[in-house]
Amino acid sequence: GLEQAEDRPEDLKERPPVITVMGHVDHGKTSLLDAIRKTHVTAKEAGGITQHIGASEVEVRGKKIVFLDTPGHEAFTSMRARGASVTDIAILVVAADDGVMPQTIEALSHAKAANVPIIVAMNKIDKPGINPDRVRQELADHGLLVEEWGGETINVPVSAHTGEGLDSLLEMILLVAEMQELKANPNRLASGTVIEAKLDKGRGPVATILVQNGTLKVGDPIVAGSAYGRVRAMVSDKGKNIKKAGPSTAVEILGLSDAPEAGDLFNAVKEDKIARQIGEKRKAKFREENLHATAKVTLEDLFKQIQEGSVKDLNIIVKADVQGSVEAVRQSMVKLSNEEVKVKVIHGGVGTITESDILLASASNAIIIGFNVRPSSAVSSLAERENVDLRTYRIIYEAIADVEAAMKGMLEPEYKEVVLGKVEIRATFKVPGIGTIGGAYVMEGKVSRNAKVRLIRDGIVIHEGSISSLKRFKDDAKEVNTGYECGIGLENYNDIKEGDIVEPYTIEEVKRG
Ligand code: GDP
Repeated sequence: GLEQAEDRPEDLKERPPVITVMGHVDHGKTSLLDAIRKTHVTAKEAGGITQHIGASEVEVRGKKIVFLDTPGHEAFTSMRARGASVTDIAILVVAADDGVMPQTIEALSHAKAANVPIIVAMNKIDKPGINPDRVRQELADHGLLVEEWGGETINVPVSAHTGEGLDSLLEMILLVAEMQELKANPNRLASGTVIEAKLDKGRGPVATILVQNGTLKVGDPIVAGSAYGRVRAMVSDKGKNIKKAGPSTAVEILGLSDAPEAGDLFNAVKEDKIARQIGEKRKAKFREENLHATAKVTLEDLFKQIQEGSVKDLNIIVKADVQGSVEAVRQSMVKLSNEEVKVKVIHGGVGTITESDILLASASNAIIIGFNVRPSSAVSSLAERENVDLRTYRIIYEAIADVEAAMKGMLEPEYKEVVLGKVEIRATFKVPGIGTIGGAYVMEGKVSRNAKVRLIRDGIVIHEGSISSLKRFKDDAKEVNTGYECGIGLENYNDIKEGDIVEPYTIEEVKRG
């Protein structure tokens, strides 16, 4: 098996911090990374060709800082969902002219859920008329109090364009890293995480890995996820062939049997045989799991884990159509906390349920509660794959009642909703005396005449009710299946629009015992 002995304190040496850059789209994450890379390569490397390997190193005052090159909290959390924790510090980029935006809040929740310290980079301060205090106020409104105002969060005004503030930002990173006392043992077999991997036509499977402990050497047998092999060559972020890589070094390696996935853990082992055995065992397990989809982590499972003592918090993510509902749910959920269970809303936001929400839930063992919002098919299937319990409601009380019921150990609701299918409105027609009829296409499942329906526009539920007419050509239809077109009218609703989604469902009684 894998050698996992704890390191003795005297074997631990200081290691460089690993940084992820997060923030709202267009706030300058990529520009900031580029600017830092350009201005902080060491003298001897200047002029060298930097190669994109998924991470890059800069040097400040003789100390190294490692930046993961894929900015954004999605990559960060999808790795975390696979059990990986690679980031020591998160840089939250906020464009000072734009302020805190929805993905800023997401990134904040993701970093907090991972317990990673945050440094705010207030970017674009080269622009005229910037008021940093406005941004500080908005951050405070979202629970992040800056140092200047008595809080703990360091914030640095910067400009990726002029380079202003970049030195202070890097100094602050080193400062926070020093306080964290990041250490590792360079004198053992290497272990760490796969940052990215691909199948290269000429070179075969290529993986960028972050060595987190030990030292990886060319020739080492290695297993990464279910891929295995021997390190044939290692390339640094500066494009140089290297022979060994110590803690907090990102390197591209060749020699694996196939491409692992980002977030897979890797270990160097003593013999090729061990690497192969572990890899093959994992492959078999993986095939097995694909055959028998693993059980979803439901609210009830979470409570079981809480009762057994393996989990303390009930983590909840709340998404709703309006901020008022997010706050109302947040407050009522938190109030449900009792001596045994702490109910925690780890993220709340306005808008539809996104892939990033699913990944955050998966990484943080959370359930998702949605109000008047519905996930897209892609998001639903990600939730299935990640075994995330995603519940949508129309009435706040029902969500509270569900959570409360689960807390009291009642296992199932008496009734549950069964979604029949998904129907897309592709055209609309005004029929005199009847109203607006949607020319529709059944994309998934079926629609039946007596089903209840909800009407979804841009991921938001805008109407809930019944069907007033369902037709195939001129004839009334009882049911229309996947791949067929139909005409559909809704009772008491006349504002169907092209692009709307009609979701038919029935309410069924749950058999107990
Ligand atoms: P990302 O989506 O967060 O990676 O943002 P980008 O790095 O792609 O930047 C988005 C836009 O903002 C681009 O047009 C950049 O040129 C611009 N930008 C980035 N940093 C700065 C800055 O410091 N000052 C100004 N004025 N513009 C910036």
